[in-house]
Amino acid sequence: MYTNFQEYLKKELAQIEADGLYKHERIIESAQGAEIMVGGKVCLNFCANNYLGLADNPELIQAAKEGMDNRGYGMASVRFICGCQDLHKKLEAKIAEFFGTEDTILYAACFDANGGVFEPLLNDQDAIISDALNHASIIDGVRLCKAQRFRYANADMADLEKQLQDAQKCRFRLVVTDGVFSMDGNVCPLDKIYELAQKYNAMVMVDESHSAGVVGKTGRGVTEHFNLRGKIEILTGTLGKAFGGAMGGFTTGRKEIIDMLRQRSRPYLFSNSMAPGLVAAGIRMFEMMSETNTLQDKLHANTDYFIKKMTEAGFDCKPSQSAICAVMLYDAPLSQKFAAKLQEEGIFVTGFYYPVVPKGQARIRVQVSAAHEREHLDKCIAAFVKIGKELGIIKN
Ligand SMILES: *Cc1c(COP(=O)(O)O)cnc(C)c1O
Repeated sequence: MYTNFQEYLKKELAQIEADGLYKHERIIESAQGAEIMVGGKVCLNFCANNYLGLADNPELIQAAKEGMDNRGYGMASVRFICGCQDLHKKLEAKIAEFFGTEDTILYAACFDANGGVFEPLLNDQDAIISDALNHASIIDGVRLCKAQRFRYANADMADLEKQLQDAQKCRFRLVVTDGVFSMDGNVCPLDKIYELAQKYNAMVMVDESHSAGVVGKTGRGVTEHFNLRGKIEILTGTLGKAFGGAMGGFTTGRKEIIDMLRQRSRPYLFSNSMAPGLVAAGIRMFEMMSETNTLQDKLHANTDYFIKKMTEAGFDCKPSQSAICAVMLYDAPLSQKFAAKLQEEGIFVTGFYYPVVPKGQARIRVQVSAAHEREHLDKCIAAFVKIGKELGIIKN
């Protein structure tokens, strides 16, 4: 039996390779950080979601060790059987405090939070109205739910209004959006989304994965940015990006919603509880967030500096209110060539092209971090300028 299937897989894989879409893993031989070791060579990393530079933070490493010493290595249980320690409740409370919400439920990952949020809350009488560029985990979560599906063009408020009108016949309406869209770095227009939701009697859900820790003066995410703290029914997010980069996801929001998820959300009911070391480090991380704003300030200063210098150098950077800077090249092979040449210069970035971004919208995505020092940013910009001139993208 396997022979036929093997043939089929080999052909499919060869086609992926021929289409230039094959994903190769690049092996890092150090901790995650601004400087990483790749093939025995030090590179500057500009493609991690390590926005606050916490992935190798000594205080978090220490907190994780203490968590393991005090509460063990693993839980070997889902939450409701025997997988809930005092630490889990404490982390959930910290997350609610950080976002100004009523309660929080932890998951192994935000992929699970999004996968398990819709189906327990809504059924075929209801409507989910989703931004066309929402994350894969939202799309999968919506698929698992029987609610009627409506889609609006990315951040297009006229289209959202039309979809809301079409959904008026439904019992409940939920508008769902990413906080920051990871390909462009644009923040969702939550002020307008909220206004429309009020007008058409809908609830709102925001996935804060790329915005939490980053957007807003103190990194409290898009609800801080738009002065809507406590107004949004559901927020989801990850501990795997700005918040230390390890693992863990959460849904935070209205009390009754979280209560219902604890009763019916399948990734919560049927998947293991977070490991104590990660939970303890997560608690310490949120304590750090409330003690000082140094990392957020540094990230914002770094991002402003990078975009300003790149724009002055003649690069076409998409407007961004996040730590993502999309350097537009508009040509797929060029984006790959540019990224490869940057790697030769010791700069790690990713070139994206169709189907990950629309046709003719190829780009290099740079992710700025609080881990970057000015000299790192200058080295990255200098490499961009050198190769940009070499490839005739910018003038001398
Ligand atoms: C990264 C990401 C996720 C997945 O988070 P994990 O915790 O890694 O599963 C979900 N939603 C968005 C918008 C993301 O960017």
